[in-house]
Amino acid sequence: MPQNLFSSLDFPSALLDNLEKMGYETMTPIQAASLPLSLAGQDVIAQAKTGSGKTAAFGLALLSKLNPRFFGTQALVLCPTRELATQVAQELRRLASYQQNIKVVVLCGGQSIGPQIGSLEHGAHIVVGTPGRIQDHLRKETLDLSQVSTVVLDEADRMLEMGFIEAIAAIVSVTPRSRQTLLFSATYPPDIERLSREYQSNPARVTVETTESKPAIEERFFEVSKEGKAQAMLALLSHFQPESSVLFCNTKQSVRDVVDELRSAGVSVDALHGDMEQRDRDQVLVRFKQKSLSVLVASDVAARGLDVDDLAMVMNVDMPRDPDIYTHRIGRTGRAGKSGLALSLVAKSEQYKLEHLSAFIERDFHKEAWQSLPLTREGLPKPLNCTVAVNVGRRQKIRAGDLVGAFVNELGIPGSALGNITLSENQSFVAVERGIAKAQLKKMLEFKVKGRAARARLLW
Ligand code: AMP
Repeated sequence: MPQNLFSSLDFPSALLDNLEKMGYETMTPIQAASLPLSLAGQDVIAQAKTGSGKTAAFGLALLSKLNPRFFGTQALVLCPTRELATQVAQELRRLASYQQNIKVVVLCGGQSIGPQIGSLEHGAHIVVGTPGRIQDHLRKETLDLSQVSTVVLDEADRMLEMGFIEAIAAIVSVTPRSRQTLLFSATYPPDIERLSREYQSNPARVTVETTESKPAIEERFFEVSKEGKAQAMLALLSHFQPESSVLFCNTKQSVRDVVDELRSAGVSVDALHGDMEQRDRDQVLVRFKQKSLSVLVASDVAARGLDVDDLAMVMNVDMPRDPDIYTHRIGRTGRAGKSGLALSLVAKSEQYKLEHLSAFIERDFHKEAWQSLPLTREGLPKPLNCTVAVNVGRRQKIRAGDLVGAFVNELGIPGSALGNITLSENQSFVAVERGIAKAQLKKMLEFKVKGRAARARLLW
């Protein structure tokens, strides 16, 4: 077995399953080099950039020590900016989702402190935040770091550049001496060496040769009129032709309207919003994951259940008011080392949101016109696959491999035409390349899987 599989580490199987679900199979170089050390309890100083998988590198180490039944703060992650803290918290929540009730709280400036105090009162296993605001909480005695067992200094070089050295010192000094301290930094100026000497004990040094950089998310903004949004969406979909895309709206009504407009133009599209029955929501998610649905129109809350790693494109049909929501939405593309595309439609009435975002991220954005993009019906996204339902599932002890065997050997579908397989209690869903599914699975087929009679029916 290659050494860089997550399964070579001593993780609980639920965690390994979750990593697999997230599409993480092999460790990135920084993970492979640091995890064996950090899991053994060593302090680590690692040279790693954003995009290297560093968040999971320290995240898995701190999660492995967490006691979910104790609600005191056990891990503290210090980040230079609110944007990074938000991303780190998001990744930690995904990594921790195999366990129930792990609470991750973000403490950053620029937001009112009251609600933060409220969430801390309910207990937080993990605190992620910027040094200034964490200090505010320490002064107010609304945060207790006396039970912390892991401290992470993320992007330590940037924190030093931003003048956080004293704040870091004050914060780390109220954590137990017995803590484990993990330091991640893209560069190693002398100040970092000093920081490490001061706060780490016997740190193992990890450097990986890396050509990886932040997976590029290309962000583009298009000027639209309120009435012209539907036309703009169609033109952009037919121009960029993403295999899978999520279109974000701010309200349920907007989700419904967009679905109606796109559907009547012949796009393979469906909705995901909070008012849907769980069953309908699950079905939509399976179809989207299996690529038998190309475009998903979603509200932010509903999209939380979305766990798809190779999204080619996201589009903000409505600009979000909050820059954190913008970051969260666009972070759904460009995952797993792939490049991603994030488009935003900006109506005049939303211009102030774009300006707010630009001030927040400290970057200028310019708006483009979409009218010159050719709109062709042929260019509109079409699903790659069909979803085939089989009336046996986990309860019948069926595994994905059994279904592959049966589809290839009993139904004569080439293995190369099979995609994602999703098992539920009493049924399974198999993605089959569209052309082949339409030709060979027109009627319901009876066959045997693991010696059991089963039926396959083309669903979508
Ligand atoms: P980071 O450097 O922590 O910002 O991670 C960069 C991106 O890589 C994130 O989108 C992660 O979800 C993704 N990622 C981290 N570790 C792995 C892995 N072992 N396999 C695939 N993707 C990963």
